[in-house]
Amino acid sequence: MKRSVILVLASLAIAPNCAAQTTTRKAVPPDVILITIDTLRADHVRCYGYDKIETPAIDGLAKEGIRFAHAFTPSPITNTSHTTILTGLLPSLHGVTDFAVPLAAAHPTWAELLSAKGYHTAAFIGAVILDSKSLAPGLDRGFDFYDNFPEHSQAKARWGRVERRGMDVVQRAEAWLTTHPLGPHFVWVHLYDPHDPYEPPAPYSMTYQDRLYDGEIAYADSALGNFLAYLKAHNWYQNALIILVGDHGEGLGEHREQTHGIFLYDSTTHVPLIFKLPSRSAAGRAVDAQVRTTDILPTVLDLVGSAQKSQFDGDSLKAYFAGEAPGRIAFGETDYPLRFGWAPLRSVRNETFKFIEAPRPELYDLRADPKELNNIYADGSDYVQKSRALLAELRAKLSPSAPGGQSTSEKEGTATSDSFRLPDPKDKIEEQNLLHRAMIATENDQPAEARKSLEKALELDPKSPVALRQLGELELQTKEYSQAAGHLRSANQLRPGDAAVAHGLGQALAKTGDLAGARDALEASLKVNPAQVPARILLGNVYLGLKNLNAAEDQFEAVLLSEPNNAEAKAGIAKVNASKQ
Ligand SMILES: [Zn+2]
Repeated sequence: MKRSVILVLASLAIAPNCAAQTTTRKAVPPDVILITIDTLRADHVRCYGYDKIETPAIDGLAKEGIRFAHAFTPSPITNTSHTTILTGLLPSLHGVTDFAVPLAAAHPTWAELLSAKGYHTAAFIGAVILDSKSLAPGLDRGFDFYDNFPEHSQAKARWGRVERRGMDVVQRAEAWLTTHPLGPHFVWVHLYDPHDPYEPPAPYSMTYQDRLYDGEIAYADSALGNFLAYLKAHNWYQNALIILVGDHGEGLGEHREQTHGIFLYDSTTHVPLIFKLPSRSAAGRAVDAQVRTTDILPTVLDLVGSAQKSQFDGDSLKAYFAGEAPGRIAFGETDYPLRFGWAPLRSVRNETFKFIEAPRPELYDLRADPKELNNIYADGSDYVQKSRALLAELRAKLSPSAPGGQSTSEKEGTATSDSFRLPDPKDKIEEQNLLHRAMIATENDQPAEARKSLEKALELDPKSPVALRQLGELELQTKEYSQAAGHLRSANQLRPGDAAVAHGLGQALAKTGDLAGARDALEASLKVNPAQVPARILLGNVYLGLKNLNAAEDQFEAVLLSEPNNAEAKAGIAKVNASKQ
């Protein structure tokens, strides 16, 4: 009693207002706002030293917060790097190393952890690649509201179908906040604009007409400005914890990489990272020490006073808010090359060296050679040996029974020790640029453009399973069925385990009247993935055509077991019955 009276008196004597503020702050935890800007190179933001662009909103946030000058993502692709931000785990440990790989339930997410503390949670995404119903299953865990895309969009343009403009995304977030004023909030806003294709709206398309990537960044910044102004107008800004981070950078032709995903150079792994603390404490601070995006979630939990004992691959950054602390080792991982049949890459970066494990390994002296142009790899070097030991330690964490390891180990696109014997991505980057261009052209409904790029990619590698598949699928769309069958058959021979390729081949053969061939392809596809309803319906119809009524009936019945109201399966059963009479 006596002791507490003395303490109270002492605190009143020192700072009466502080004591009152602390009590209020403890009662209401701060709103937490996460802004991720896609494909944002740190060195293309004004407050990171790039004077050819105006980014007033990001710069303003840096002025009122702490700017980390050297922050690194472990992954150069969107789903993987966002999963790292939302779990505090490295890609090999959370297991989401490619699109559509589900996040294992064993890994708690940022939203789940804050939800457990009474937060109201919502996510607003700018691209279908983060849609939890299709390409990012599990990423919505813990969110009261997750703003997915419409399931069936007839729109020809990309807007609203595969991508939302930044202003659209922030307005959706603002509308949600207006109708859900009760805090504390955790809101995640994802601005996809700087991702290619670079198509900023006016006036950014004019101001930056020779540098459209920069135009997209400036436009995304204006959307951020709109959102921050909204928060200020509703009195939510001052006491909020706001974190801004890029999910990865962009190659822009460095190391011949046009976009991102294949390599682990700084061009695609160095990202902006800014923390605006409640009540602007530590405002204007810049931290030079090397940090990682795995550190973000542990920091947030530290700041909101969570006692959660989760295992993270990062640590709280709080030590950097007040004083100097040493830089941290940043790992890099990309399994994205596996999608094309090339070796995955791993890297270990400290503030002086970067080692990249590849079929032809690389080592860069970052102080003398910040652009990573002069490979000084030598087998016995000290840093190489230490890096390899660290990578081995990381692999050892991934036992077959470890969560995140098991769910994807069977899947294509997951690194195994054998996969490091595949072709070096350095020899394949031109091909990847072409495949990427074809993918964007297909998304934009430009089949002639897509075909041109795919044919060029096949000139570089006639046995590219990805190019053969993309071309075959394109020809299915353009109704050139016999060409489609040829390309998909070649892709199927190279990758017999790919259910989608076998399904496509079945479709093409059915259209050309080769029903026996279609039957074999569809049976093979369903053996790999029995849950494909459209493939099963088509197989039922192929059996009808082959006059095998019992086999047709089996397929339609199987569909009705999982989807009792499936109209096509019901129509199939009716046809079987009519033929039997
Ligand atoms: Zn991304």
